[in-house]
Amino acid sequence: MEKYQVLLYYNYVHLEDPEGFAKEHLDFCNELGLKGRILVAEEGMNGTVSGTEEATNKYMEAMHKDPRFADMMFKVDEAEGHTFKKMHVRPRPELVTLRLENDINPKETTGNYLTPKEFYEAMQDEDTVVIDARNDYEYDLGHFRGAIRPDIHTFRELPEWIEENKEQFEDKRILTYCTGGIRCEKFSGWLVEKGFEDVNQLHGGIATYGKDPEVQGELWDGQMYVFDERISVPINRKEHVIVGKDYFDGTPCERYVNCANPDCNKQILCSEENEHKYMRGCTHECRVSPRNMYVKEHGLTEAEIQARLQRIEEEDNVTTAM
Ligand SMILES: [Zn+2]
Repeated sequence: MEKYQVLLYYNYVHLEDPEGFAKEHLDFCNELGLKGRILVAEEGMNGTVSGTEEATNKYMEAMHKDPRFADMMFKVDEAEGHTFKKMHVRPRPELVTLRLENDINPKETTGNYLTPKEFYEAMQDEDTVVIDARNDYEYDLGHFRGAIRPDIHTFRELPEWIEENKEQFEDKRILTYCTGGIRCEKFSGWLVEKGFEDVNQLHGGIATYGKDPEVQGELWDGQMYVFDERISVPINRKEHVIVGKDYFDGTPCERYVNCANPDCNKQILCSEENEHKYMRGCTHECRVSPRNMYVKEHGLTEAEIQARLQRIEEEDNVTTAM
């Protein structure tokens, strides 16, 4: 069987004509048979693609020959096949959406880069705070042990959350991390600009940390959320502590599903058993929605739906009564 690889990469570098670049780059990716999602902006590129080992190796080689991407760091995962359905290359105003009034150029202002080993050691210092620069649903599947979980659903909410909670970080050594490092480049730069003095970021992100031969992902709990069909990948190669909790009953769980009501589509951690019990609906309204996909997939009759709703009511009332 042919081997596949998934690449994750970014580079902050000035691109003259993002639209033109995107068109050419899409043709190039299609020629190689890659699938994935690439964003290009005047400030650089950010991508993740899957393809055969041969195609992805050719891609990396070609990118490294371009002086603009000569030092681009690729995180490489093995895979059993494509992890995306389509190939997109999209021009965007920003590589990561922060929408700051005064945008940060990470080439000029950013936190200190820490290697996985340095990050591992710094994390264990008493005067250190570790801030997860990702979204709540990413944190909930897995995170560094003891890291702070900003209560945000998208990256652009992060600066405001920090402003509101800054007393937690004052006079501390700050460590930030994200999936591949690109969000931290800007976020740590923003922290520096805000006057925080000792700001550090995990170079290459969690993806690099998990592959580092020395740290082997140690002090990472759970799985890492990824934005492709795999949804989650392992990081800690020494031990596996489950931190995810089932949305319905709070039991340990690392299985993400989307709410069956397409108007809601909320991502929830949910066991197979509870998926059936709750018809994959995150609320009563989502369960009884006429568009509920679970009901369609399983061809449930009205009587069967009522029977399940009845069971939920009985069992959940018992739980509340206890
Ligand atoms: Zn829902």
